[in-house]
Amino acid sequence: MDHDGRVTRAENPAPSATAPGSPATSASPGGTASADVPGVTVPWSYLMDMDGVLVHEEHAIEGAAEFIAELTANDINFIVVTNNPLFTPRDLRARLLQAGLDIPENRIWTSALATARFLHSQRPAGSAFVIGEAGVITALHEIGYVLTDRDPDYVVLGETRTYSFEAITTAIRLINDGAKFVATNPDATGPSRQGVLPAAGAVAALIEKATGKVPYFVGKPNPLMMRSALRAIGAHSESTLMIGDRMDTDVIAGLEAGLATILVMTGISTPESIEQFPYRPSLVLASIADLVGRTADPFGDR
Ligand SMILES: [Mg+2]
Repeated sequence: MDHDGRVTRAENPAPSATAPGSPATSASPGGTASADVPGVTVPWSYLMDMDGVLVHEEHAIEGAAEFIAELTANDINFIVVTNNPLFTPRDLRARLLQAGLDIPENRIWTSALATARFLHSQRPAGSAFVIGEAGVITALHEIGYVLTDRDPDYVVLGETRTYSFEAITTAIRLINDGAKFVATNPDATGPSRQGVLPAAGAVAALIEKATGKVPYFVGKPNPLMMRSALRAIGAHSESTLMIGDRMDTDVIAGLEAGLATILVMTGISTPESIEQFPYRPSLVLASIADLVGRTADPFGDR
């Protein structure tokens, strides 16, 4: 893995030699026809949400460990995509491992990493005033940003469990003085064992109200988040699917990034709630356990 988390080819050899755009061959054993390229046989790559798909809080969802083990055993390219900007990939790996899910750091993509990539692409070696915890602070440091409250290029809002009126006041004044307002994710609330917690979207609304400036949200449903995740594992949209538990974030972000989408019923969505949206996932499953044994050809023979 290089410094921005990209998985190198040597670490992740493709299971099949047939590349997108190459002449069609007969179906290879490990491959399947990809979404929009008739006749072209490529292996699927997987993007997947974390909470409500792989885990509930700190407990693995049934079948998740077997699913990850199958992807790993078959060299299937995958990455976990989470809006949670609180933790670094190393911290998240440790938490997932405690739940029995063995996922390497470089296969975890957070809204904090996506925000750092975005800011780096917009303004390399810039400066930011950050409200957030280790996830977003580490990501910005590693991408070469200076964290300061003196005339920063950006105010970056992530999530924190210790909101400070003083820090929010500083953020508001810096935005009024011209700093650009960027937030890791638009979620209004996040889960906890005791009940919901206010998340980045709720505090962003407070700062927006005080400044009149609307933040740019990098996390889902922004398809930018999916595109940066694809790039992190060297995957292509036409042969990648996104698994999520929410229509309004996971499915729409996958759809708008050109991916196939799978909605699971182990989180927010219910079969009834799907009908409230003007778009549909490619496939609806009860849980990720339904993919075990068929990860090479998830849409075949149903
Ligand atoms: Mg979720």
